Amino acid sequence: MRLDFPIVAESRADDTTTTMGQRLRIRGGYVYDPLNELSGQVHDIWIEGGKIVEPPADPHIVPDRQIDASGLIVMPGGIDMHCHIAGPKVNAARKMRPEEKRHGAVMSRTSRTHSGTLGSVPSTFATGYKYLGLGYTTAFDAAVPPLSARHCHEEFADTPGIDKGFYVLMGNNHFAMQSIKDRDTERLRSFMAWLLGAAKAFAVKLVNPGGVEVWKQHASGNVTDLDQQVDYFDITPRDIIRELAAAADALELPHPVHIHANNLGLPGNWRTTLETLKALDGHRGHLTHIQFHSYAGGDEDETTFGSHVAELAEYVNSHPEISVDVGQVLFGETTSMTGDGPLGYYLHKVYGTKWFSADTELEAGCGIAPIQYRNKSFVHAWQWAIGLEWYLLVDDPWRVVMSTDHPNGGSFLAYPKIVRLLMDRTYRADVLRSVHPKVREQSVLRDLDREYSLEEICIITRAGPARLLGLDHKGHLGPGADADVTIYEPHENKEIMFSLPKYVIKAGDVLVEQGEIRRTTFGKTLHVAPDYDRDRESEIADWFEQYYTIRFRNYPVGPEYLEQSDQVACGGKGVSPSPDRRLQ
Ligand SMILES: [Zn+2]
Repeated sequence: MRLDFPIVAESRADDTTTTMGQRLRIRGGYVYDPLNELSGQVHDIWIEGGKIVEPPADPHIVPDRQIDASGLIVMPGGIDMHCHIAGPKVNAARKMRPEEKRHGAVMSRTSRTHSGTLGSVPSTFATGYKYLGLGYTTAFDAAVPPLSARHCHEEFADTPGIDKGFYVLMGNNHFAMQSIKDRDTERLRSFMAWLLGAAKAFAVKLVNPGGVEVWKQHASGNVTDLDQQVDYFDITPRDIIRELAAAADALELPHPVHIHANNLGLPGNWRTTLETLKALDGHRGHLTHIQFHSYAGGDEDETTFGSHVAELAEYVNSHPEISVDVGQVLFGETTSMTGDGPLGYYLHKVYGTKWFSADTELEAGCGIAPIQYRNKSFVHAWQWAIGLEWYLLVDDPWRVVMSTDHPNGGSFLAYPKIVRLLMDRTYRADVLRSVHPKVREQSVLRDLDREYSLEEICIITRAGPARLLGLDHKGHLGPGADADVTIYEPHENKEIMFSLPKYVIKAGDVLVEQGEIRRTTFGKTLHVAPDYDRDRESEIADWFEQYYTIRFRNYPVGPEYLEQSDQVACGGKGVSPSPDRRLQ
């Protein structure tokens, strides 16, 4: 546990950075704040005590510091709602790719920042600095086994610049599956609430529900459809999805169940994905890295592989309780890491790479394998195109979120490139011309003229994810919001514009200035602690004493593991999608 942070807070004597207690005015920028109906209007933003505040009524009040943003673009800080940046599988991937560390770019120590390593799985400090340098101020790790929560919190304490949280794996948890088998919804609900609180997690994650358990029981085991039985529990993936979604809704969690569906990456898996959406049975749900789940084909003939986005996007368009993030693939080398044990094995078999697999007792699994996406590969070119089809075919930008499933589809550092692909159809057409010819001919991309506006980019990278995560205090610049602000210099090439923000302000601290990190802070950990029936704890304790390698009383993560934290309230606030303000 890290109790002090010995570096980086020092600033130069002549430094003009502003710290949290001071009053800061961002003057005259073009402000993009869709939640407050600002779309490029010139507007002043006032900051005090780490929060956005109303402009002072008295015009004679002068700020402690003023940033002249005239001619610049002002947005809330970016929010990555699905990435892999901390915990055991990320650390295993770092150790597994020494070749990347040996040959990769070096991040040298400066008077303000630690050194770090890059490659597809950067070190903790490098991760924080790179997010911050990109104008992102919040990120969520999407798959942590509850038993490894401590490890994740310890790495968070070493990840500067951003607020963070994680989703705890629950889709193959024995206690959860036993409760579903016993049809004991009250017990399931109490367990979910207890586990979120015990791990100091933010949301519930399902990864290949039921499939990881079958993987543990059989050589190369997996489930192939939603109605297959899971050994010993006599339940199906469909039961797990429906019951966990219902429990998350009943607890009024800020973010609904976050689902990595079954059959990721397999030809023809669009049918499983559609069934998964239906299995939600009207409950809220977020389907993650939907690109990897939208494939046509499946008759053992590779040439039948292709896109089945249109029908799935139509289902999402007509179901406001459902949202997605994309998991865009970008060409190049990366590392696939997942809580989906059988998927790691599948990738290893397909690409013949090294492979790491681990099971977490009673809880979860893990698979890691290097991967290289090539633009001339038929399958990879389809994956690239399918991601873009998703952005362009979902009508409501509030329910489609930018992600690469970092590092699975590519690094989060590629976000500016995705922005350019969405905002510049000429550039998109140029890249389309460079990919596998069959994909060029068959993808609807060549007919899609849609270009995202700056307002829509602002929605899919900050306002939308904040709303889907139920974070009322993020993703906007109204009074009371966290003063997380990114200021960009306009540029015709949107990749350049979004790669190097001029200023990044985190909780009122000006951390990046003229594109350079001037100070760092450590951000907060966001977590939930839903209420539950305490009488149910004895059942959970009995189960622990019988089956776990750790005693019940030693399992919950203590408050000392969180240096700075925000407990986000449950209760249905800020969780509804917004078809009322749909942008075309
Ligand atoms: Zn992921």
